[in-house]
Amino acid sequence: MRPETLTPLFAPAQSLSGIGPRLVTLLAKALPLPPNVNEPRIIDLLWHLPTGIIDRRAEPSIAHAAPGSIVTLRVRVLRHRPGPRGNKRAPYKIACEDDTGRIDLVFFHADRRFLERQLPEGEERFISGRIEQYGQKLQMTHPDYIVPPDARSELPLLEPVYGLTAGLSGKVLYKAIRQARDKVPQLQEWQDPSWLAERKWPPFHDAIARLHRPEETTDTSTGSDPWQRLAFDELLAGQIALAMIRATLKAQSGRRIEGDGNIREKIRHALPFALTNSQVGALEEIDADMAGPYRMLRLLQGDVGSGKTVVALMAMATAIETGAQAAMMAPTEVLARQHMETIEPLAKEVGLRVALLTGREKGKSRKQVLELLASGYLDILIGTHALFQPDVEFADLALAVIDEQHRFGVHQRLALQAKGGAGGANMLVMTATPIPRTLLMTHYGDLDVSRLTEKPPGRKPIVTKALPVDAMERLIERLRAQLNEGAQVYWVCPLIENTGLTDLAAAEERAAHLAQIFGKESVGLLHGGMSGTAKDGVMARFADNELKILVATTVVEVGVNVPNANIMVIEHAEQFGLAQLHQLRGRVGRGDRQSYCMLLHKSSLGDIAAQRLQMMEQTEDGFAIAEKDLALRGGGEVLGVRQSGMPEYRVANVPNFEDLLAAARDDANLLLTNDPKLESPRGQAVRTLLYLFECDEAVRLFRAA
Ligand code: ADP
Ligand code: MG
Repeated sequence: MRPETLTPLFAPAQSLSGIGPRLVTLLAKALPLPPNVNEPRIIDLLWHLPTGIIDRRAEPSIAHAAPGSIVTLRVRVLRHRPGPRGNKRAPYKIACEDDTGRIDLVFFHADRRFLERQLPEGEERFISGRIEQYGQKLQMTHPDYIVPPDARSELPLLEPVYGLTAGLSGKVLYKAIRQARDKVPQLQEWQDPSWLAERKWPPFHDAIARLHRPEETTDTSTGSDPWQRLAFDELLAGQIALAMIRATLKAQSGRRIEGDGNIREKIRHALPFALTNSQVGALEEIDADMAGPYRMLRLLQGDVGSGKTVVALMAMATAIETGAQAAMMAPTEVLARQHMETIEPLAKEVGLRVALLTGREKGKSRKQVLELLASGYLDILIGTHALFQPDVEFADLALAVIDEQHRFGVHQRLALQAKGGAGGANMLVMTATPIPRTLLMTHYGDLDVSRLTEKPPGRKPIVTKALPVDAMERLIERLRAQLNEGAQVYWVCPLIENTGLTDLAAAEERAAHLAQIFGKESVGLLHGGMSGTAKDGVMARFADNELKILVATTVVEVGVNVPNANIMVIEHAEQFGLAQLHQLRGRVGRGDRQSYCMLLHKSSLGDIAAQRLQMMEQTEDGFAIAEKDLALRGGGEVLGVRQSGMPEYRVANVPNFEDLLAAARDDANLLLTNDPKLESPRGQAVRTLLYLFECDEAVRLFRAA
């Protein structure tokens, strides 16, 4: 249960005065909402931190006000001078003065009655805005603030500036945030007192109030004490949640899974190749985990094409040797089917029973799969998100494998694991994204990691070249020669920014263009809007070498395996992140032919884009690329957390993130060692922290599992 002190913060933003349905829609666009939240709440306003400050502290007399600067003036209103009747474009001017000089306030499209109420002749007002020189005169166009002397405190001398969205004015947002700020309760301190004293950080309440009501121009920088404190709070909450999940895992003894090796042996015989040393090593680590007293939670990292699927199959074989079942989940229909196609023939040969379950299996066939699964007849179930559905019941799930993990959220992973009954299933997650250590720590805690560092033998390096788009005709000529020698080509067309053209339109256009050159029957088109069956159909024709060129939007699925395809062309490569380019390039280089990756880019490249493409030309090392990507773009995007629906950090995206994260992790571990159930006074306060950052759900979900 969420502590009552926090209730006001989780009330809908609409409960604040002046916020109606229209504004709620705008706020939902402008604010950083967690993925499962549609209606902005008061807390979301609070996490919308300023991006800068307008300094209105200069309060000169009129004679000393410097044109171009932002000032706050105390003036007497002299006279209203509406523009001449009939001339709508002429401004409405209001002459004002103080003891040193005069200034005109200038309004376009003025509402006369409104101005007469705001600025009655003969009265004093504080006004704030930018001073301009107009001929010999000073003027201020549309002052930002106009307040009577007794309401002077409403004029923020340091005004925070916020990210907006079309239709949402800074003033309206600021008013809402001011109200939200007043709802922040005083909370029991959850940070370690000596750490806090050493850092000289303010209490939570003061920190958040200070960011939204800055007292120094530096307050809203990410390096300020209030910001750092909140960043640490957020990281600490995340690390404690992960450590708790981890501790729960370790405490729940899983069952020991030790196979007799007979199914594995058969698979080994059926495989047309020998396992690489990396694969053997990873399997040893997995075996040790599964045979141990705790549930396995292991990440299998291996660059694209490193052969993760076989490792997963071998691990599943062990589970099946003990009489239990295994599941394998992929993020998309195409991938799930492809796993099915890889695994099914091998499974048949060695006598394993496999079925597929995706969103497309419906009605009778779905029912039948579920029955075979629940009865224990099936050994392996391969599928998509459909595996999470509540009516999917295993007789005895001992191992769950999740492919391309970063597309799934933590919750989804846990939901699948929970299907393994009281002990929960052993979990093997596979990713081709080489996740740098700091990110692993943030998102997975101390996950155990096995790495496939070695590629299967016989792979030739991929020749990568960045080319300006003007070179496309030459490229097409070269393709002609390649195609004659039996090559196959992926051609990726992304959304083109600022053209209004959708990625679909771009891909359709390119497909038509290439079909004219190479013939209609050799060019296929794959895009996200196609039905699953249609996608499969096109993929199958490409895999069978019927289609020579596959033009695709960015849906060319991570993980598709067509060994004969040896050329990857990526249009507008400058728009992709490094990790994505690397993933796409990994589609080729799987067969005997020399492979190429051609990165077409617009002719004038920005600095970062140029660095990215250069990096691609220089190396195929996924880890080096991931590190570079991290340096160029920062955390969340590398992991693809945006797609997975995991919330990005709202406060902790700060330059010294790694240091804070390491400290938060140590603190979380120490805290939980001393107080695993969060019962001490600090532990109690930490519970509030977990709710505040909405980490409670992950913890609860897991506990229930
Ligand atoms: P990924 O790690 O990207 O998922 P896959 O598991 O799809 O890679 O494997 C890519 C290709 O390499 C597949 O065609 C697979 O059969 C092949 N492969 C896997 N292991 C080996 C090996 N030890 N020797 C040769 N080929 C292998
Ligand atoms: Mg794969």
